[in-house]
Amino acid sequence: MTKWVYSFGAGHNEGRADMRNLLGGKGANLAEMATIGLPVPPGFTITTELCTAYYDNDRRYPDDLDAQVRASLGLIEEAVGLRFGDAAKPLLVSVRSGARVSMPGMMDTVLNLGLNDETVRGLEAASGDARFAWDSYRRFIQMYGSVVLGVDHHRFEEIIENAKLDAGVIEDTALSPQHWQAVVAEYKVMVEQERGAPFPMDPHEQLWGAIGAVFGSWMNPRANTYRRLHDIPATWGTAVNVQAMVFGNMGADCATGVCFTRDPSTGENTFYGEFLVNAQGEDVVAGIRTPQPLSRLRAHPGEVSMEEALPSAYADLVAVRETLEHHYLDMQDIEFTVQQNKLYMLQTRSGKRTAAASLRIAVEMAEAGLIDRREAVKRVNPASLDQLLHPTLDPKAPRTVFGKGLPASPGAASGVAVFNSDEAEMRSAKGEAVVLVRIETSPEDIHGMHAARGILTTRGGMTSHAAVVARGMGRPCVAGAGGISVDYGAQTLSAGGKTIRAGETITLDGATGEVFSGAVAMIEPSMSGDFATLMGWADQVRRLGIRTNAETPLDAETARKFGAEGIGLSRTEHMFFAPERIGVVRQMIMADDLAGRRAALDKLLPFQRADFTDLFRIMHGLPVTIRLLDPPLHEFLPHQDSELAEVAAATGQDIEQVRRRAAELSEANPMLGHRGCRLGITYPEIYEMQARAIFEGAIAAARETGEAPVPEVMIPLISTRRELEITRAQVDKVAADVFREQGQSIEYLVGTMIELPRAVLVADKIAEIADFFSFGTNDLTQTVFGLSRDDAGRFLPAYVEAGILPKDPFVSIDVEGVGAMVRMAADKGRATKNALKMGICGEHGGDPASIAFCEEIGLDYVSCSPYRVPVARLAAAQAALGVGVDRTA
Ligand code: PEP
Ligand code: MG
Repeated sequence: MTKWVYSFGAGHNEGRADMRNLLGGKGANLAEMATIGLPVPPGFTITTELCTAYYDNDRRYPDDLDAQVRASLGLIEEAVGLRFGDAAKPLLVSVRSGARVSMPGMMDTVLNLGLNDETVRGLEAASGDARFAWDSYRRFIQMYGSVVLGVDHHRFEEIIENAKLDAGVIEDTALSPQHWQAVVAEYKVMVEQERGAPFPMDPHEQLWGAIGAVFGSWMNPRANTYRRLHDIPATWGTAVNVQAMVFGNMGADCATGVCFTRDPSTGENTFYGEFLVNAQGEDVVAGIRTPQPLSRLRAHPGEVSMEEALPSAYADLVAVRETLEHHYLDMQDIEFTVQQNKLYMLQTRSGKRTAAASLRIAVEMAEAGLIDRREAVKRVNPASLDQLLHPTLDPKAPRTVFGKGLPASPGAASGVAVFNSDEAEMRSAKGEAVVLVRIETSPEDIHGMHAARGILTTRGGMTSHAAVVARGMGRPCVAGAGGISVDYGAQTLSAGGKTIRAGETITLDGATGEVFSGAVAMIEPSMSGDFATLMGWADQVRRLGIRTNAETPLDAETARKFGAEGIGLSRTEHMFFAPERIGVVRQMIMADDLAGRRAALDKLLPFQRADFTDLFRIMHGLPVTIRLLDPPLHEFLPHQDSELAEVAAATGQDIEQVRRRAAELSEANPMLGHRGCRLGITYPEIYEMQARAIFEGAIAAARETGEAPVPEVMIPLISTRRELEITRAQVDKVAADVFREQGQSIEYLVGTMIELPRAVLVADKIAEIADFFSFGTNDLTQTVFGLSRDDAGRFLPAYVEAGILPKDPFVSIDVEGVGAMVRMAADKGRATKNALKMGICGEHGGDPASIAFCEEIGLDYVSCSPYRVPVARLAAAQAALGVGVDRTA
């Protein structure tokens, strides 16, 4: 018999924290908290395996599930002394989803399940509080009606709004038991009209309805989108947690809240959270009432902290904070309820945090001795470092404040105001910077939030949906800007008599919560403090070298600042496009004979030499790999008539000649024609000029700095040994000439890109000629897949969406195919030359999963764009510590 159901609480703890894959995060941690003696209401978890079995079996449950659920329900009844469905002493339960990783987008929670026209009377008698009983009943119908039965939640809100109007009150809490009773009656009529059947009164029917809704929500479109964005496989499934209710809405000695053991925005080691007196969980998250701070220190005038309102429960909560941090050794995100001054824990999990907070918490926990430095290095997601590289507002820049909200997620963003998520996605796809403006967000807005540069909401607290999701995504967010009003109909936001319309630019500062009209100048981030500390620790454990792909002095300097240990790829063709050079390049292309080409190349030489001298100077003493010309020549010719005429005038030819030459050079598939070493072989003078510029530049830099650089000359698009032999001979000859002329020689290497399948297959032979291999995984992906780099975007997203490919292979290396080629070439290369130096310089060099693969096959370095260098340093350290490719597991 398969065990589908695991109990927790009241002495029956069948789960543990490390059973997250089976019990989901919520279920595993509830069991763990109960085991370490924290006050957890008893309950049970239906496993993720059941979810998978349910889908495998045409959405039917296994026969033995019912008996297991009944048995576990019996354990809860025994523990709390109440019975499910009992008219006098009814047990009420909550039903929540809980996947392996927390996943907004799925069914969240149904509270107060088990209430019906009879049991509500029992609850009223047992609690002695009619308002509480009827308020709980209407909440149940509302939640169950919307999340399980699919009735639009506005229909419920309308009924409450009318009730409040009739009663002449503003706050929900001012409604009397009789009012709630009337609301319940109206709810039931409305639900029956909507679904064509009465609201279910049988608690067991209610329970199975809610369980079915959780499993059903695993495959809803929102959950599917979220999974796609976060690489979560559909096969993981969700668990369902059923737990005895405790009530935060029984009066002034009751409350509910959410908190973090440290500040999730900054990482500061202070207790951080919000609570509401006399409320149930959804009130905090939904932003209907404004939550109050936990500690007195954080309370503003007019706010009453939990420390003051419920001092003994607060003291208990502070103790729980200590216990949980010491037990889990990580910052926790906690949900709790206080019923008649007694504290109950409803959830704990590793708290989502900004990258800045993640760094600070890891560093401070290591410094406090809670974890060691290696563990600290493992704790920070390399991809999240991107957030710290976000610009912030220039403090000196002029600005016009429009309004203010909560600083929900740091970083600054400017963009046009857009009021709905579909439009945000559409405009951003066209390249526009947008700021998504909503009264509040829901899981339906995930795609819009993802597309937006920043998010502004006018309702909700620091733990509202918008705040939590934006932090997770690394989007700047200002939440709960109550002074700003949003009118979706008119497409405006207004504050203090001023109005901003859709399409006008606004700027957000997620660190202060300020909102500005218009754009505000920004500055680049600095990387000191915790960032530098953690990077230092990462550097101590990583084995892979980190280089950068750079050709301009600015890029090279940026990369050095970020810790690059050399240049792994300098694409020399990028140096050909500057206005004072492109004319000369075109002269070379248009020349009819060798003499004409040489004359043009002679003019290019000083430019290239100066470029290389700059790079060698900036990279002072570090290796610099310079790739000789790669793209086909037509890429340097213009396409429009007016520009062709300019080239004709500049080269003294008529436009027809230019047009003819452009036509001659054009290629059907420009990526696989007359390019790379094929150019170097047919026009040896081009590579000769470049080699001369490199060696002259290197000697100039050596004289200037007193330290000779070691240039690494790299030949692109090699597919045979002979090609490398010919081009290498050219380079060696130029080197000898230059060293003789200058009276000085320096060390240098000549190597090759490995970016074609044939080069992989004969890598042992190519290695006889090469001093190093650099894997050009962009072209290798293109040629191994037979998939044009420039046309892949037309269908790859559909492939990834349909699960045909797990990820875009141009972003993250296809380990199975392209990776196998890289491994094979590396093995063959080493078979010829044991210590052959090897690195990767395709886009994959900055992707954490691909870096883990490079570590696995023992490459020497990865090379990536300057802004990815910190990401690569950390990813390489984690790879050395054995953190695998799958970051979501
Ligand atoms: C590659 O092909 O991976 C590479 C680095 O070169 P490029 O992108 O310039 O073709
Ligand atoms: Mg290439």
